[in-house]
Amino acid sequence: SGTPEVLLSARELTKRFGGLAAVNGVNLDLWRDRIHAVIGPNGAGKSTLTNLLSGDILPTAGTVTLGGIDTTRHSPEAKSQRGLGRSYQKTNIFSSFTVWDNVRLAAQSRRRYAPWNPAQWFTRADAQATTNASCERAIELAGLTSRTNTIAATISHGEQRQLEIAMTLATEPQVLLLDEPLAGMGQAEAERMVELLLKLKKGHAMCLVEHDMDAVFALADRLTVMVNGQVIASGTPSEVRADTAVQAAYLGE
Ligand code: ADP
Ligand code: MG
Repeated sequence: SGTPEVLLSARELTKRFGGLAAVNGVNLDLWRDRIHAVIGPNGAGKSTLTNLLSGDILPTAGTVTLGGIDTTRHSPEAKSQRGLGRSYQKTNIFSSFTVWDNVRLAAQSRRRYAPWNPAQWFTRADAQATTNASCERAIELAGLTSRTNTIAATISHGEQRQLEIAMTLATEPQVLLLDEPLAGMGQAEAERMVELLLKLKKGHAMCLVEHDMDAVFALADRLTVMVNGQVIASGTPSEVRADTAVQAAYLGE
C-alpha cells in the first residue's frame, strides 16, 4: 500500500473549560495503517482530545489538519466528509431500531451527499445505492451480518460495541477515532474486539483511546500518555513502557 501517510495532525491543541486546561498543548500525528493509542487516568483529557479532533468541540488554541487541510474550525459533518469517523465512549445507538437502521441512520447523518450542492443533484440515486453498499460492508466488517435485522436492544453488549464500529465505518472514513471501544467488555468480547481493530488497521489511521492495557499493547504502533491534559510520554509501546515518568505517574510499576 505504498509509503505511510500522515492523515491527521494536531498541533499544540488546547481546550480550556474555565480555569481547567482539559487538553494542554497536545501534538499528535495519525498515520495510515497505524494504530495510535492514547492512554491516561480518568480525567486526563482523552475524550476531550477526541472531541477536538472530531470537531465536536472547538479548541481554545492549536490546529487540526486532515489530509493536509486545516480543519480546526470545521464542523463534525465537514470533517466526516473529509474522511474522519468517530465512535463515542457513551453509546450512540437507538436501541429500538434494528442494526441495519442504526447503521443506515449513521451513514445518512454524516453522508457525503450534499443536497445544497447542484453538482450532486443528479447523482442522488447513485449516492443512495452507494450508501446501502457501504452499510452492508460496514456491518460485515464489524462481524454483524447475522444480526442485520435484529433490534439493537436485544444483541449483546459486545455486539452493541461492534455496532458502534459499524456505524462509524458506514461513512467509509480513512481516519478512525475510537473512544474506549472495549469499555465494559468481558474477556471473550474484548478479544473479539481486538481482532476487529487489528483487521481495521489496514487502510485506516486509527486513534484508539483505551483503558485495557492488554489490548493497547497488543494493538498500538504508537502510544501517547496523557495526565492532566498534557502528554507526559509518546513513542513506541516499548519506549513508553520503559519511561520512568510513565511508570511513576500511571502504570504504577
Ligand atoms: P478522560 O476522557 O481522559 O477521562 P475528559 O476529557 O473526559 O477525560 O475530561 C478531562 C477533564 O475535563 C476532566 O477534569 C473533566 O471533568 C473536564 N471536562 C470535560 N468536559 C467538560 C465540559 N464540557 N465542561 C467542563 N469540564 C469538562
Ligand atoms: Mg473519556
